[in-house]
Amino acid sequence: KTSGENFKFETEVHRVMNIIINSLYKTKDVFLRELISNASDALDKIRFLSLTNSTELESNPDLKITIVADKKTGTLTITDTGVGMTKANLRDNLGTIAKARAACSGTADFMKKLERNSTSSDLIGQFGVGFYSVFLVAESVTVISKHNSDAQYIWESSSENGNTLGRGTQIIIHLKPDSLEFTDDERLRKLVRKHSQFINFPIYLWSIRTIEEEVEEPVEEPKPESDSDETVEDVTDADTTTAEPKTKTVERRIADWELLNQHKPIWTRPPSSVTEEEYGEFYKSFFRDTLPALAHSHFKAEGDTEFRAIIFVPPNPPYKFLQPDEPQGKNVRLFVRRVFITDELSNFLPRWLSFIRVVVDSDDLPLNVSRETLQKNSLLKLIRKKLIGKTLDMLSKLAENDELYRKFYKSYRMAIKFGLVETKSAHKKLVRLLRYESTTHDFTSLEDYVGRMKKNQPQIYYISAPDAETARNSPVVETLVARGYEVLFLVDPADEHLVQGDLKTFMGKPMQHVGRTGLKFGDEDEKTAARETELATKFRPLTDWLREKLSTWVDKVRVSMQLTTSPAAVLSGEHGLSPSQERLYSAQLG
Ligand code: ADP
Ligand code: MG
Repeated sequence: KTSGENFKFETEVHRVMNIIINSLYKTKDVFLRELISNASDALDKIRFLSLTNSTELESNPDLKITIVADKKTGTLTITDTGVGMTKANLRDNLGTIAKARAACSGTADFMKKLERNSTSSDLIGQFGVGFYSVFLVAESVTVISKHNSDAQYIWESSSENGNTLGRGTQIIIHLKPDSLEFTDDERLRKLVRKHSQFINFPIYLWSIRTIEEEVEEPVEEPKPESDSDETVEDVTDADTTTAEPKTKTVERRIADWELLNQHKPIWTRPPSSVTEEEYGEFYKSFFRDTLPALAHSHFKAEGDTEFRAIIFVPPNPPYKFLQPDEPQGKNVRLFVRRVFITDELSNFLPRWLSFIRVVVDSDDLPLNVSRETLQKNSLLKLIRKKLIGKTLDMLSKLAENDELYRKFYKSYRMAIKFGLVETKSAHKKLVRLLRYESTTHDFTSLEDYVGRMKKNQPQIYYISAPDAETARNSPVVETLVARGYEVLFLVDPADEHLVQGDLKTFMGKPMQHVGRTGLKFGDEDEKTAARETELATKFRPLTDWLREKLSTWVDKVRVSMQLTTSPAAVLSGEHGLSPSQERLYSAQLG
């Protein structure tokens, strides 16, 4: 036994706990998943440390998580043989919310963020407040921890003495009266199976189980016929009349360690043996999300470098997705031969791919590679290239499923557009992933648009507008519609950027803004041209007069054959600002 120095809560910790309890977590079940995930992280850490120093494991080579419930005392104890915490770790990680507060400027801001984002599952991980979810069910908590480089310490929210640990952490939860259900084996078993089945370390429950056992019974004298209706269900061969020994099923209560998870990494299994449901559950528990992924790609790469990976598209984009202050994502988790190495590979994937979640397990990377030199490793570059390629394939495949792809596109279209600018080598595949609303279709690819183009149509027609409604009502669009042409609506400012750079043409056809000069039809003939010249001459006095009167605003006034019902339209020049750019500039000036 080690008497512990007591670390007490800072008062603010209580306030944060209340917010967590009231808003961040919808059900109190989550505490178990959070504590198991912390235990798993701690086990990953010690295993990683042991790669460079094998003596690290000597204090306890058995890497596991155990759960013991005690109905008598109303306690639940979760123990791991992970890295443990030093005195300073305990104080910094559990006793204060300094870490959480550092993420925001001031407590008030932090509180607001917590309240505003109460539905965002991302936030829990982001602020590192998972541990506090224990107070959903705990009246008080005792944490006993032993790190290899320090003595054993106890952190408690009340007073207690601790058991001796070789290494690792033990969390003793004194359950609130309304949470005593968590001493129930079956409840715990179900929860672990549901949320933690893919934890890569064994999770044992100290359980009292009733097992059925067949035992031989001494042969009895045949009884006289009896009209008793008492049935003996647990006697397997009750109607036997022979003198052979009878066997009987009896119930026996045994207490032992019960293994609750398979702890075989899902990515090491052949993809054909993993069910959709398993991918869903794995994604949720491994990447701590509330919904299964929209799409996934599980593969084994062979050749230049061997590795296994699963790429996921989360159901919702990450916090501040593609915004300048998007937090550095921990979206790639790297393993080397089943050992977790790091999830802090900064800028490993291009930024437009910051939305995907990946687990990679390399066979070739050296185990003792340091996180610093890892970044420069040439094998990692090959892995990166392959992951980008596989992601593009996965998205191309997703695009074949109209319903899912619409869902994807709604959340992630900016990724595709950023990708066109950021990863030029992916241009061919990425342009095929673009979708637009048009005068005749609500979600079309450029490829399909080209397929529908009229014979001799020389350009892909588009209009940029703040929204589809405005685009549709534009007078210049109506002429084209009247003549049977389809016009694409480009409603993202990013599209404007694309058509001037990476998307000037598609399949050899120039992209043409219908409100700018340069618009050509394939069906103009000499007669139309002659008529246009004739009309221009006829109306010259009017156009000259208009140009003079409107000289402050317009460059040119001309007769047009393009309008059908509107008498006039204002266009921008071929190289002038588009309407959306004009809006952008005037917004900046205003
Ligand atoms: P997070 O896991 O997101 O960092 P938590 O609130 O869940 O946030 O945990 C806070 C920190 O406390 C962890 O980062 C870790 O350093 C430490 N910790 C929690 N549980 C354990 C444990 N079982 N063993 C070792 N360290 C732990
Ligand atoms: Mg945690």
